[in-house]
Amino acid sequence: MNAENIKTAGVIGSGTMGRGIAICTASAGIKTVLYDINSDILDKAALIIQKDLGRSVEKKKISPEKKEEILKNIVFTSEFTDLKESDFVIEAALENMELKKDLFSKLDELCGSETILSTNTSSLSITTISTYVKNNPGRVIGMHFFNPANIMKLVEIVKGDFTDEETVTITKELSKKLGKVSVTAKDTPAFIVNRIARPFYGEALKIFSEGTADAGKTDAIMKNCGGFAMGPFELMDLIGIDVNFSVTKSVYEAFFNDPKYRPNFIQKKMVDAGLLGRKTKRGFYKYE
Ligand code: NAD
Repeated sequence: MNAENIKTAGVIGSGTMGRGIAICTASAGIKTVLYDINSDILDKAALIIQKDLGRSVEKKKISPEKKEEILKNIVFTSEFTDLKESDFVIEAALENMELKKDLFSKLDELCGSETILSTNTSSLSITTISTYVKNNPGRVIGMHFFNPANIMKLVEIVKGDFTDEETVTITKELSKKLGKVSVTAKDTPAFIVNRIARPFYGEALKIFSEGTADAGKTDAIMKNCGGFAMGPFELMDLIGIDVNFSVTKSVYEAFFNDPKYRPNFIQKKMVDAGLLGRKTKRGFYKYE
């Protein structure tokens, strides 16, 4: 197989990342089956995708015809079995190993043994995930997009200990077809970018909790003087406080409680209070 043979892509999870990934695959002319657990979530995802594409038309990044073509290429479904015909699956559900275990075991039973099974996990082990696939585990790989997935160019391709070379080659080709720049990374906790980013969020949260500076001041300094496109608090709101907290906990555990990666109580407090960032219109900032 090569990337040109990928006619149907399955995307699991229609949240922040799944929606952006579906736009990428559909834009590349690939029929995209976007799966989530219920129709309410999918209806919301369809609306957000339409709005996103509408904005791209307004900004003249795509034509109105391209918008329609992309929408036509996306099939929204809450039936897991609709993923059966996928040539390439990209899983972008919650950052939770038990959930990924369940999904990959089910994909193993559902899809043909040639279907590549990738995960957009930010931090979990690809090698561990591949052990849930009994039938040809060499086809399991990490394909880690960045947020917003339809805009950010980088994709980390993560090779698990059992991932075969053909899977890596096809995933690289697909990334190129989607207009991405790919880098390969070894299967270590949080790979490259998220590993480096952990202390960035961690120190910012400590500064915040100690009262040294508030979110606005820290973000402004990092952008205006540090040259960053976004400050740590804006980024955490964009990522989702819940998603970022799950990733922090996973990296902390994976490095055997190395204090460098310790989560902050503020993250837990915000998750418990439903202050998840942009997606709930309130996180470190308020959104209209
Ligand atoms: P999200 O919370 O926005 O969306 C998750 C989606 O998964 C929701 O729509 C939810 O309904 C769905 N879901 C839950 N259980 C499911 C199941 N059993 N089957 C199918 N769908 C299910 O999360 P997100 O930010 O899109 O993150 C998804 C994955 O991508 C995580 O593994 C995360 O670590 C990773 N990731 C996130 C970012 C980011 O910036 N948010 C960046 C890169 C990677």
